[in-house]
Amino acid sequence: MKKQMICISCPIGCMLDVEYEGKELISVTGYSCPRGKTYAETEISNPQRVITSTVKLEGGKHPVVSVKSNAPIDKALIFDCMKEINKVTVKAPVKIGDVVLPNVLGTGVDIVATSEDSGNE
Ligand code: SF4
Repeated sequence: MKKQMICISCPIGCMLDVEYEGKELISVTGYSCPRGKTYAETEISNPQRVITSTVKLEGGKHPVVSVKSNAPIDKALIFDCMKEINKVTVKAPVKIGDVVLPNVLGTGVDIVATSEDSGNE
C-alpha cells in the first residue's frame, strides 16, 4: 500500500511518500533528514503522539490547567488516556512540570502540568 504523510518531527513538514505492507515499511522518499525516515517507520509500525489537554483545577485563578504527556503514547491508547485525564482534578497551587497523573494506563508515561497557577488567595 502507498500513502502520503507529513513529517511532524520539525516545522519544515516534509511530505513523505510511503510504501508499506501491514506494519512493514517498504520504502519512503521525500525526507530531508534521517528523522523523516524514522518518523515514517514509527508511523507504520507503532504510531505515537504526545497528548496535550487540560485538567480541572480547584482553588485556582483559572478553572483548568494545561497538561501534556511527558513522552509520546501509542496512538491506539490516546482515546483511553483522554478519558483518564478527564477524570483528574488538581488543587492549586500548580507548577509547570507537576505530575497530575502518573503512569497513565500503565504506560510509564506521566501527564504533567504545562502551565502554573498559584491559586486565588
Ligand atoms: S524529514 Fe527532517 S527536515 Fe523534513 S520535516 Fe522531518 S525532521 Fe524536518
